[in-house]
Amino acid sequence: MPKLTGNCLCGNVSFVAEGDIVFQANCHCTDCQQTSGSPFATLVFMKEKDVKITGELKSFSHSVDSGNTLRKDFCPNCGAQMFGGNEARPGSLNIKAGVINEKELIKPQFNVFAGSKIPCTVLDDSIPAYEGMPS
Ligand SMILES: [Zn+2]
Ligand SMILES: [Zn+2]
Repeated sequence: MPKLTGNCLCGNVSFVAEGDIVFQANCHCTDCQQTSGSPFATLVFMKEKDVKITGELKSFSHSVDSGNTLRKDFCPNCGAQMFGGNEARPGSLNIKAGVINEKELIKPQFNVFAGSKIPCTVLDDSIPAYEGMPS
C-alpha cells in the first residue's frame, strides 16, 4: 500500500496519505489551468479517509458545466494548491501531484480535457487522452 507525504511551500500544511491510489490523471481543463497557474494539473485521487491533513486550509468552491460544485483547498499563507474535491463524489479527495514527495509514485493513467490543453503541451501518447471527461 503506497504511502504519500507532502507539504505546501511554507510548510504550514502537511499530509500523510496511506491507502490505495484510486486513479491519477492529467487534467487540462481551464479551471485547473487558472487555479494552478500551470498548463495542466496532475491529480492523484484517493479516499478522503486515507488522507490525514495537518494545518489550516482555505477552500474555494465553484460550479462547473456539469452542474457539480468543485472545491479547491489551498494554504492561506503561501497559496499552494494542495487538494480538491467534488460535491458529487463525497469521500473522494484529489491531491495535486506537485505537493507529493514520493515523485516516483506519480504515474498519470490518462489525460482529460485534452480539448482545452495549451497548444504547446505535449501529451504522453502511451496513455489515453480524452477530449473531455470520460463518463
Ligand atoms: Zn503554505
Ligand atoms: Zn481540471
